[in-house]
Amino acid sequence: MACEAWRDKLDAFVDGELSPNAQQEFDAHLRGCASCAKDIASRMQLKTAVKRAAALRYAPSVEFRRKIEKEALPRKRNPRAVLIWAPAFAAAAVLLLVVVWMARRPAVTPEMAMLGEVVDMHVTALASANPVDVVSTDQHTVKPWFEGKLPFAVNLPDLTNSPFTLLGGRVAYLDQTPGAGLLFQYRKHQLSVFIFQERAEWAKMSAKETPQRHASFWVETWSASGLRYFVVGDTSDANVEQLANLMKGAAGAE
Ligand SMILES: [Zn+2]
Repeated sequence: MACEAWRDKLDAFVDGELSPNAQQEFDAHLRGCASCAKDIASRMQLKTAVKRAAALRYAPSVEFRRKIEKEALPRKRNPRAVLIWAPAFAAAAVLLLVVVWMARRPAVTPEMAMLGEVVDMHVTALASANPVDVVSTDQHTVKPWFEGKLPFAVNLPDLTNSPFTLLGGRVAYLDQTPGAGLLFQYRKHQLSVFIFQERAEWAKMSAKETPQRHASFWVETWSASGLRYFVVGDTSDANVEQLANLMKGAAGAE
């Protein structure tokens, strides 16, 4: 497909809304098209900025909502008092509508928000001209590269006899906290592995260690020895699980 045809699909790609086949074709196109890659990178920056702003958005507590509802409900008053208070009631009613609207929006769970961040980091890596800072297929080169850059050791699996190839690594940031970003190749696909120090809010999440669908990607996440792992790919859940199992084996071997 020509570049012009892809330009209409930039937003769908950024939101992970392309079909798996289109996603794969776009991945391949991005590797050869600096112009599309640059546009994706700036869209991802904008998306991150909007999400940061949204996270700071005011969310009313249940108590506050009840208080507003109580104050907005008209009480029995004499007619003259009602007239005097009418503008205040109207203002309170508008505020109540806003509060109810905010409370009824579909809830984004912390888990969905976090998986969204991880998928965004993967898409950003795919669109980046330099997705890895240490380019190597050798685990013995990539592991020491992270030493001194991260507060933990990065243990990489032996990929001999596996369908995956290591492409390299870089320092990835999630909320300004550094972690390991690793890129793997599987046929024409690229998969990301992210490793961060475990956080209290992540530890509370459901512990189902199977790949979950997020947009057009599969994400598997688990926690081991104080570290939080994420594997992201657009291939298949089996594929993502296979790489997850290799990472688990590498972490357990040391
Ligand atoms: Zn292009």
